Amino acid sequence: MAASMASQAVARGLRGASAKYLFLDKFKCARVSSRRWLNLQEYQSKKLMQESGVTVQRFYVADNPPDALQAAKRLNAKEIVLKAQILAGGRGKGVFNSGLKGGVHLTKDPSVVGELASKMLGYSLTTKQTPKEGVEVKTVMVAEALDITRETYFAILMDRACNGPVMVGSPQGGMDIEEVADKSPELIFKEVIDIFEGVRDDQALRMAANLGFKGPLERQAADQIKRLYDLFLKVDATQVEVNPLGETPEGQVVCFDAKISFDDNAEFRQKAVFAMGDMSESDPTETEAAKWDLKYIGLDGNIACFVNGAGLAMATCDIIDLHGGKPANFLDLGGGVKEKQVYEAFKLLTADPKVEAILVNIFGGIVNCAIIANGITKACRELELKVPLVVRLEGTNVQEAKRILSESGLPIVAANDLDDAAKKAVAAITRK
Ligand code: ADP
Ligand code: MG
Repeated sequence: MAASMASQAVARGLRGASAKYLFLDKFKCARVSSRRWLNLQEYQSKKLMQESGVTVQRFYVADNPPDALQAAKRLNAKEIVLKAQILAGGRGKGVFNSGLKGGVHLTKDPSVVGELASKMLGYSLTTKQTPKEGVEVKTVMVAEALDITRETYFAILMDRACNGPVMVGSPQGGMDIEEVADKSPELIFKEVIDIFEGVRDDQALRMAANLGFKGPLERQAADQIKRLYDLFLKVDATQVEVNPLGETPEGQVVCFDAKISFDDNAEFRQKAVFAMGDMSESDPTETEAAKWDLKYIGLDGNIACFVNGAGLAMATCDIIDLHGGKPANFLDLGGGVKEKQVYEAFKLLTADPKVEAILVNIFGGIVNCAIIANGITKACRELELKVPLVVRLEGTNVQEAKRILSESGLPIVAANDLDDAAKKAVAAITRK
């Protein structure tokens, strides 16, 4: 149904670059993916892994072709792998707008690495996890390639259903893991971790066996699993994903790829990790909103929603849908609001050319409605608001807020409840 579609889209947006990545991947929609959690590039994640004693291959990082070439020579390896660094996965099967196919290239000849890098750096790489236009590659990783005899999938993530961390693994990892999850769910193994106890030996060994590691490799894989869990805890991750966790003919278990997402609430005690954060791949409006402690999610319609709280955001989007309208975005004001934030929020909402009407739906619990009303009137005047504005305020100090709005002399449409507000916002657009 249309109504529930909107809230699903919003829910996806709120989940952002989801920890349940593997299973949600096929539903992921680039338009609504917000960066709710900090993500690092593969090379940054691998640095953290190295520090925790996890086995990764030797590598250098370069942002220009000559440096990439130098790095390839310096590695002095039998084979080199050149990997485009973007936050999305699926790079192996991606395509550049330079014509180059594949964001991961293997070569035995280090002298071609500069040339290859010149077709990656400064170009956009499109994979099944990026928007259609792709993501510009600013960095490449030049690493020692190793023969891989088998590729498995391993991840640790925070799982709401388990009330804590859970390990997920499959003996059939690699580039088609989404298909495995879809078509052969019996090949996905889970192990719920007790947060107080940590990963027990028997759990790590069972997971290693489920991943298909045999003989001495089983112990080695179990050891890697425990180290990955230590890292997961140490850096306050919401997800550590290794795909592939591979084995080499020399009998080594190696993390060939790495994706770590972090809990934003831990920023205060993970300063070094968050300092590595690269916002250049984020939606600029979301980044600007984050500066003001606002959460912005872009959608495809033409009614801007200004709300407080994720639940209210979803309800607002659904009711707009129900009345035949489409939300253009929503901006979540959160709890302790200041007038300045309201102003900045309006600035962001009105900067979107798609927006033809604004619906304010604020339920004042912690929020004082009068502060919102003052913010709104100030923003309307200073930004010379051109689109119809429908306001529904409820809760703390609402009478005072209504007085401020009605005495402002501004063409603000007052609504009695959410249904009324949505109806009026949709009507305002239809009338145009
Ligand atoms: P993505 O998941 O974005 O496609 P990966 O890092 O998983 O990128 O690389 C894709 C594939 O390239 C891997 O599944 C693996 O087969 C191969 N690969 C990656 N790193 C190495 C390496 N160091 N040595 C050999 N092969 C590699
Ligand atoms: Mg991978």
